[in-house]
Amino acid sequence: MATPTTTGAPYDATPVATPAPFDPAAERGLLVVLPHPDDETFSSGGTMARCADAGVPVTYLCGTYGDMGRRMGRPAFANRESLRDIRERELTEACAVLGAEARMLGLRDKCVEFEDPVEIAERVRAVIEELDPSTVIAFYPGFAVHADHDALGLIAQLAVRSLPAGRRPRLLAVAVGDQEANRAALGEPDVLSDISGTVDRKIEALRAHRSQTEAMFVKWDEDIEDEQGKAFRDRLLGGEKFYLLDPHHVTDYERNRP
Ligand SMILES: [Zn+2]
Repeated sequence: MATPTTTGAPYDATPVATPAPFDPAAERGLLVVLPHPDDETFSSGGTMARCADAGVPVTYLCGTYGDMGRRMGRPAFANRESLRDIRERELTEACAVLGAEARMLGLRDKCVEFEDPVEIAERVRAVIEELDPSTVIAFYPGFAVHADHDALGLIAQLAVRSLPAGRRPRLLAVAVGDQEANRAALGEPDVLSDISGTVDRKIEALRAHRSQTEAMFVKWDEDIEDEQGKAFRDRLLGGEKFYLLDPHHVTDYERNRP
């Protein structure tokens, strides 16, 4: 048998960065700052439960009541008036499952981008000063798909930036949407949280947000998802990934704000 000759593309020596594992034992406190009830579970529910299991205080500072979160008549059991109370109850239930304390910022749903980011950042900063977390989780401004997500991502970044150097928690940013596009722009995520030990609680917390997830679970439970749905489910229940965001890094989103 002839020895195969090497042809084709040259060996690519570019090192593939391996994300650092998220280690709850290294945390003093975890503060999650996202705009809607359910964002916490989707983005980092497994990590929140891991921290709670390790005795690390976990707080979810939720931007809005998500009371505009009704699409195409779903959920059928809520209307615009009742949805706020329903989502607050769902959040309380989900946070109980994840071992987190829920706090509300009380901003208007779908209007976070119209707030003065510096003003709201002062309120977020006060919570950081009070709780003194070692890590803050927020959306990556400009890579979070929804206007509220991007806006509160920037607000969280400004809050951490405004603290004196020695008092700044680590800022972990969540990028959502097109994973390939995110990778092309940001590279590989820096931190990977293995949630295999808490994925059942993540699912339970997702179920608690029934006004938002009922339709998804019908498909899961009856196993009638399309390929896209299956890929989303795999991503959701796999490891939770975060980018380390330098609080002083001026993102395109911040630079291009009107
Ligand atoms: Zn959201």
